[in-house]
Amino acid sequence: MRICVVGTGYVGLVTGACLADFGMNVTCVDKVRAKIDMLNRGEIPIYEPGLDLLVSKNAKAGRLTFTTDLKKGIRENSVIFIAVGTPQGEDGAADCSAVFDVARAIGRNINGYKVIVNKSTVPIGTAKEVTTAIRAVNGRAQFSVVSNPEFLREGSAIKDFMEPDRIVIGVSDARAEEIMKEVYKPLYHLETPIIITNVESSELIKYASNAFLAAKISFINEVAVLCEKVGGDVLDVARGMGLDHRIGPKFLQPGPGYGGSCFPKDTMALLDISRKHDYYFAILESVVDVNRKIKERMVEKVRRAVGPLKGKTVGLLGLAFKPETDDIRESPALPLVAALVKEKARVKAYDPAAMPNAREMFPTVHYCRTPYETAKGADALVIVTEWNEFRYLDLTRLKTLLRKPVLIDFRNVYAVGKIKAAGLSYHPVGRIKEKW
Ligand code: NAD
Repeated sequence: MRICVVGTGYVGLVTGACLADFGMNVTCVDKVRAKIDMLNRGEIPIYEPGLDLLVSKNAKAGRLTFTTDLKKGIRENSVIFIAVGTPQGEDGAADCSAVFDVARAIGRNINGYKVIVNKSTVPIGTAKEVTTAIRAVNGRAQFSVVSNPEFLREGSAIKDFMEPDRIVIGVSDARAEEIMKEVYKPLYHLETPIIITNVESSELIKYASNAFLAAKISFINEVAVLCEKVGGDVLDVARGMGLDHRIGPKFLQPGPGYGGSCFPKDTMALLDISRKHDYYFAILESVVDVNRKIKERMVEKVRRAVGPLKGKTVGLLGLAFKPETDDIRESPALPLVAALVKEKARVKAYDPAAMPNAREMFPTVHYCRTPYETAKGADALVIVTEWNEFRYLDLTRLKTLLRKPVLIDFRNVYAVGKIKAAGLSYHPVGRIKEKW
């Protein structure tokens, strides 16, 4: 099977490398020449654990190639995955212009029957609109558009692709269904559940899943607020809830609000879809509103611990929206840095992978090489992202380096008692400060 994957971002590159690893011939296309040049030199444009080895192994075997030539990618392959970005537009709706650029290019260059796979997260109805866009360019084209949303998480993307909880395929004809089953045959043999449905249901499964997870996060974040008010410990509460099999422990970690390249934009896009269909999606409206307030609350938490921010130095540990990625899109760190800069605090920061991306957005931040350099002379240190290397910091050393011994922990990484023993003033999320 010959496959073309358009877009070599977090989803496209992982999809291309994994499908090549299944033994297929894969051509990855991107419009950004610098990315393709890097990939052809054996360099990986993003940080994703294990991706470098997977790409180099399959490129060496001749199954994985990279090009900017979309026309060639379309003509030489029978299955074309569209994995380009669908960022949030100004009105909250998903901006699918890149998807339609690719669709029109397919219309211009199509030669024989093709299966076109929407892997990008797209609003309900997009598969049909892509069909219309291709037909508008080439009325005689033979093809079928399939919806196949992706559920991988950055940081564990390869495992998530290779061992998914399920594969969702939205199709409108039997020929395309057979071809998609063939693409995923290696996972079919592992007994991965495959849901075959119509394109609308498939498109909605992706948005509904992300919106549901965002709701779960927002729920526990509000429980954490309540814990601070009533003297509860949210970690105990979350554990007590999560052990109920009907609830489950995942996505019950309180924190600074959900971020990243998916949850914020996908919740907004689903709200936009609902509004366009004249439906007020009350729960989701609240989820989005709660998340905004939780992010504001985190800035307030720093203000309360430090006092007026003007002239203070605040050290941030973590800038990525989660550990094991360099992605800072919608990271909870961003509104915090913006508020600190606006209120004329001096910001120092360290992140194991995300500093090159953050530097482009916040050039005035002082970027450090270690957590200890970040703490030096600061009026507070804030753990924003729970990278593993922040879990076992030398607390006594931190205390001597900090100007004021204040540790604010958005991720509840530390045990309250341990911090107290080290003589630090500790500000976690939703926990009992006096706990033994
Ligand atoms: P990304 O921004 O990392 O990558 C998109 C790539 O597409 C970029 O390299 C860009 O240069 C390329 N591109 C854009 N227009 C193009 C065109 N016309 N021709 C060729 N290349 C083009 O995006 P991503 O994070 O990989 O996300 C891709 C899609 O997958 C989005 O719809 C996203 O919502 C969805 N998704 C993302 C994740 C995730 O964790 N990142 C998970 C599941 C689904």
